[in-house]
Amino acid sequence: MASPKQASYDAIIIGTGVIGSGVALELARRGLKTLSVDKLPTAGYGSTSSSSAVVRFTYSTAAGVAMSYEGMKYWRDWENHIGDIGDQPLIDYVESPMLLNKEPGGHWEKVVPHLDALGIPYENLSFEETEAEFPILDLRMFGPPVTIDDMDAPFWGEPTAKHDGVILTRESGYISDPQLSALNLATACEVAGGEFLYNTEVTAINRADGRVSGVELDGETTVEAPIVVNVGGPHARILCQMAGVFESMGRCSRALRREVYIVPAPEGVDYDTEGVSMGDSDTGVYFRPERGNNILIGNAEPECDELEWVEDPDNYNEQLSDDGFQLHAMRLARRVRNAPIPGKKSGLVSLYDASPDWLPIYDRTDLDGFYVAMGSSGNQFKNAAVAGHCMAELITAIEAGHDHDNDPLVVTGKYTGFPMDMGTFTRNRVVPEDTHMNVFG
Ligand SMILES: Cc1cc2nc3c(=O)[nH]c(=O)nc-3n(C[C@H](O)[C@H](O)[C@H](O)COP(=O)(O)OP(=O)(O)OC[C@H]3O[C@@H](n4cnc5c(N)ncnc54)[C@H](O)[C@@H]3O)c2cc1C
Repeated sequence: MASPKQASYDAIIIGTGVIGSGVALELARRGLKTLSVDKLPTAGYGSTSSSSAVVRFTYSTAAGVAMSYEGMKYWRDWENHIGDIGDQPLIDYVESPMLLNKEPGGHWEKVVPHLDALGIPYENLSFEETEAEFPILDLRMFGPPVTIDDMDAPFWGEPTAKHDGVILTRESGYISDPQLSALNLATACEVAGGEFLYNTEVTAINRADGRVSGVELDGETTVEAPIVVNVGGPHARILCQMAGVFESMGRCSRALRREVYIVPAPEGVDYDTEGVSMGDSDTGVYFRPERGNNILIGNAEPECDELEWVEDPDNYNEQLSDDGFQLHAMRLARRVRNAPIPGKKSGLVSLYDASPDWLPIYDRTDLDGFYVAMGSSGNQFKNAAVAGHCMAELITAIEAGHDHDNDPLVVTGKYTGFPMDMGTFTRNRVVPEDTHMNVFG
């Protein structure tokens, strides 16, 4: 086992995914001596490496929209944000228009007031305007989506209605190499003086005098710190149990198995340049261009699809399913004209750390000094850098005596000046039992 260079640090960050590395960088740049620990061999090897890495601003909360637009500015300014990290290549931010169809009562109705309030550019296109600009899309209404067992359902038949059009944000996009984005952040953190320990597991979270006092590594070494941040992704729940704060974490997040699929673009179409991204509850999928003239498809949690919760994030079925691949390729082919349904499956399997309302938990806990950036619910990759900023501001304020539980901190975006109300992401928020949220957040 590698050993930490010191016996104590100002802050220990558990997890070096894209969010964990983002948090570590911001703390190190504020002058804290940080130690980041991960049981995997390098930064971004956990769920981050499987991310679809879509960057969009279409969230249902004001704070979600503000954070994601601010987050996009970091990706665009990546070279400056990361600074000099020697020979390591930097990620590319690939711009790709993002469409959200205007289903009656759909997600877009929650999103648009926030875009308006913040003055974020978007276009409200009619059916005709959408078809003229994006002829590859069939904008008729197919939903509600069904599974492959229900082939007689109207979803697979000839539709009679059409969508009113779409909400279009042109500044949206994606990151083609999500693991590299975590590595860029981690390396920038090292430049700022942060230390990283890989292949090392946190096996206990220690407390003394009523607050966190550090961690135990691989059951052997104790390292002290007055601040410990849980950014364990799908393991965050276990880390909360380890810290003894699970009961006070409200309805904690859980690991959720997810499959993502890749199909080739329709024949004769250059989807890298002509393609679009879409969050499409009507067909039950989201999709975006994937390099090499492919289309990446993810699940949008339609009611007909069962959620596969995972008890042990180190032990789950990592085999891509034939049925899932077929179904999602078929759903995509409803929306994207001539999208192929290949016989050979392609894609990946990974885990979300999904909270009950599909919003992240960026917060303190009931154990002083123990913080969480968890419950990222399949939609926080895009916010990694800004979440780092927000967590660092939150930690700084709370350690200086701010009562965040009763007077939620509002962080100002350094690029946009947008207010980002951290109260939206507290562990104490009330989540209705019947919430119908999904990955769109
Ligand atoms: C399939 C998929 C698609 C997604 N698509 C999108 C998208 O399109 N857009 C978007 O914005 N977001 C998306 N997301 C979400 C986004 O990728 C995640 O929110 C983000 O990558 C999580 O980063 P993280 O740093 O919190 O966690 P992770 O990357 O999971 O990192 C957690 C790390 O903690 C380490 N760890 C855990 N426990 C311990 C321990 N005890 N000791 C030491 N180390 C430990 C793990 O080894 C791991 O490396 C997607 C996620 C998935 C899985």
